[in-house]
Amino acid sequence: MFIEPAINRNSSPYQKGQIEVICGSMFSGKTEELIRRLNRARIARQKVEIFKPSVDKRYHEENVVSHNENYIRSTPVNFADDILLLSGNCDVVGIDEVQFFDEQIVAVSQKLAIQGKRVILAGLDMDFEGNPFEPMPKLMAIAEYVTKVHAICMKCGDLAAFSFRLSDSKQKVMLGEKNSYEARCRKCFYEDKR
Ligand SMILES: [Zn+2]
Repeated sequence: MFIEPAINRNSSPYQKGQIEVICGSMFSGKTEELIRRLNRARIARQKVEIFKPSVDKRYHEENVVSHNENYIRSTPVNFADDILLLSGNCDVVGIDEVQFFDEQIVAVSQKLAIQGKRVILAGLDMDFEGNPFEPMPKLMAIAEYVTKVHAICMKCGDLAAFSFRLSDSKQKVMLGEKNSYEARCRKCFYEDKR
């Protein structure tokens, strides 16, 4: 069970850091869950910083934007190491679209947690072929808490853990993820997988 940590900044100069991973398919609400946790921390006046890889330019440059258009201001970075330099004296570090970061994100997350920061990572755990999406598996291994969120299968309505990429023939113009992918359960994913 996931436990929301209590950070008491007055009791001791030493804070306990931890790593949390929020994973799942597309349309599973990963970013919404990340934003929920970050907003709760911010309401408690904890210092929150949010980062995302600069390759993710689907929406506004400066915002982590979830699909229901909740947003939190964020900093796009080119390399995982940049997060170490930019996260300074914050209490909580949120990182979205973690699957697009280089392998260094694993060491960076560990360093931040050892510094006493709460690190919350959200990302796709499988690619469109249903294979583990590095570096997510490594992050899930070193995390204290892993939360897997699910979408709804767009074919049968069961819980979905897979991101199915629609073919060019089905979808002539592939602009943006919403038109290019469907959340699928295992059965419906492998029935149509080419
Ligand atoms: Zn299904």
